Amino acid sequence: MARPFVCVRALATVLLLGIATVSGSMGLRGQEHRGTSRIPSQFSAEERFTMKEALKDAIKIPTVSFGPEEFNTTALAEFGEFIYKAFPTLFKTSFIQHEVVGEYSHLFTVQGSDPSLQPYLLTAHIDVVPAPAEGWEVPPFSGLERDGFIHGRGTLDNKNSVMAILQALELLVTRNYVPRRSFFIALGHDEEVSGKYGAQKISALLQARGVQLAFIMDECGFVLDGFFPSLKKPFAMVSVSEKGALNLKLQVNMTPGHSSAPPKETSIGILAAAISRLEQTSLPNMFGDGPLKKTMQLLANEFPFPTNVVLSNLWLFRPLVSRLLERNYITNAFIRTTTAVTMFNAGIKINVIPPVAEATINFRIHPAQTVQEVIDLVKNIMADDRVQFHVLSAFDPLPISPSDDQAFGYQLLRQTIQSVFPEVNIVAPGTCIGNTDSRHYTNLTTDIYRFNPLYLQPQDFSSIHGLNEKISVQAYETQVKFMFELIQNADTELSQVPHLHEL
Ligand SMILES: [Zn+2]
Repeated sequence: MARPFVCVRALATVLLLGIATVSGSMGLRGQEHRGTSRIPSQFSAEERFTMKEALKDAIKIPTVSFGPEEFNTTALAEFGEFIYKAFPTLFKTSFIQHEVVGEYSHLFTVQGSDPSLQPYLLTAHIDVVPAPAEGWEVPPFSGLERDGFIHGRGTLDNKNSVMAILQALELLVTRNYVPRRSFFIALGHDEEVSGKYGAQKISALLQARGVQLAFIMDECGFVLDGFFPSLKKPFAMVSVSEKGALNLKLQVNMTPGHSSAPPKETSIGILAAAISRLEQTSLPNMFGDGPLKKTMQLLANEFPFPTNVVLSNLWLFRPLVSRLLERNYITNAFIRTTTAVTMFNAGIKINVIPPVAEATINFRIHPAQTVQEVIDLVKNIMADDRVQFHVLSAFDPLPISPSDDQAFGYQLLRQTIQSVFPEVNIVAPGTCIGNTDSRHYTNLTTDIYRFNPLYLQPQDFSSIHGLNEKISVQAYETQVKFMFELIQNADTELSQVPHLHEL
């Protein structure tokens, strides 16, 4: 997503056909939910100051996950105490139950007044990836405010969501809000390394309690702005699936010997050649088999001529569009299983023929493929029995969640996006090319949606897990407003959601 992908001029000579139409969708603006008056998402200057300061304080706690079993437990414990102080009303409210799960993760159960409504889950994570201070404009755990931005690790991934969810609920209960529909808030503490001790335990706990969810909202999609050069308006991408992953260790064993009389091939040469074949042979282009095709169709009329015509007629131009999508490394990641050689180890001494050569390859699996299919493809491409395969870890892509008219969670997000971001015309389903905690919750629902109610521009994208991560104060306020609206919208009936016309 970091770079423009469609060169409009490259399409200028394309034969033009009729233009299919996508009708705009309407939001539930200003609508009131049954039986309760709507609480407007307007916050006083004092509340806005408090919410901003609370986010800064959250950033200052270095809740770093260093590895699958290595966490800053002091910071995680401190964070638990911090939220207790930052959101005092929430913790005192009789219909909200709080539990610590897996020592540092948090589960809130918000009991709604109507038990006939199926509950939902809002999830976010409190851990962050490491942030060495080198290269940052301000120290990564300072939470400094400068030029209207709060700086630091976790401002976009994902303490913004942790804090916005709790802040919105705090503001709602302060205004005597009582939800009709029950919901859960799950805050994992090890998402960046596995989710094994946080989300996985919360999921098991909810399953043991017999909970089935209407939907889940997690991080990942954004309001994307400036990712396509000719697209003048931002659009919202709600990720309805998530790529799978396969970490494969490749190994070649040879008899060691003296380098003065070498064999024709060494373990290093054999493995390097096999890896080179793998790098030179991209796995199949799957454009058309995942959510991206629908995204392109929905966006078609947002593009100027002739891109609009091309995208509206994918039955004819699909090969052309899929080739264009391959050209950019970000859009390429959306249309196929990617291959990344991440580690290579071999050799023990300058004059010894290496007995073993090993490499690790990280594949991110397209939603239309499986782990086994990728392993079979890789074996065929390598075509060398001397290369041994060991699966270090693997999981299939997540199922594609529904995004049709009847998909309550998706429509709820769509209507909330269109009321909080009125300049957004198109809400489109997408794929999360990373991974989130939501993969641990597939036992509780088929409807998992990943969306951060934030604008994301290409330069912001590289700051996530990179340098100079920051969020504007205004963007954070909007995120709080979004959650404030969403929680109230969840009390509406699906029948109240207006009809979405699609291709
Ligand atoms: Zn994250």
